Amino acid sequence: MEYFEAGTKKDILYWSKRLYQKGLTPATSGNISVRTKEGILISASGVCLNDMSEDDIVLIDFDGNLLEGSKKPSSEKFLHTQIYDLRDDINAIIHSHCPYITAFACSNKAMSEPIMPEFVFYFDKIPLAPYALPSSMQLAIETANYFKTSDTVLMQNHGVVAGSNTLQQVFYTLESLRAYAETYFGSQVLGGAKTLNKKQIDDIRNLKRQ
Ligand code: 13P
Ligand code: ZN
Repeated sequence: MEYFEAGTKKDILYWSKRLYQKGLTPATSGNISVRTKEGILISASGVCLNDMSEDDIVLIDFDGNLLEGSKKPSSEKFLHTQIYDLRDDINAIIHSHCPYITAFACSNKAMSEPIMPEFVFYFDKIPLAPYALPSSMQLAIETANYFKTSDTVLMQNHGVVAGSNTLQQVFYTLESLRAYAETYFGSQVLGGAKTLNKKQIDDIRNLKRQ
């Protein structure tokens, strides 16, 4: 598949299909946005990310008001506006209900088990924000607050939200977390993963600093 520059509707459509096809956004769950000069391009509410067309992407301002488009913006628009407001370096956001990742959020568990060097290197810990009603301003504010120290946050009994400079980067973040979660569950079936010891973890953190 051809890759488009971040920031366009085509770019959103490209990554939305990949999100759905990877099982990261089942049915009509999840939403996707990018920051542009004019405002925020965001998926409309209630659409399946695999089946979207350009008409299913609308432009909103940083208070969540509709600027362009005929559809209703995602019900989680405030989650996106709050994160963009807090983090100048984030230009793309994806919210997902990926079942493997959401299992952690439903079990009230942050993702933090040091079972793979890759996870320690790239993430170390994915914090868990408290439950609040989906689409509420309370959920948006409380979840965005965790973006002060993390680029990815689990949302209790709900899912996960991740932000980065490009949609490509956010996609890889979610794909990596799903792989971590699947590995974790597979290890549980086989008797439980052996966690890395302190020295092994320190060595990975030192590698990161270099
Ligand atoms: P929208 O379809 O309104 O974006 O909502 C999906 C979702 O994940 C709600 O939390
Ligand atoms: Zn959701």
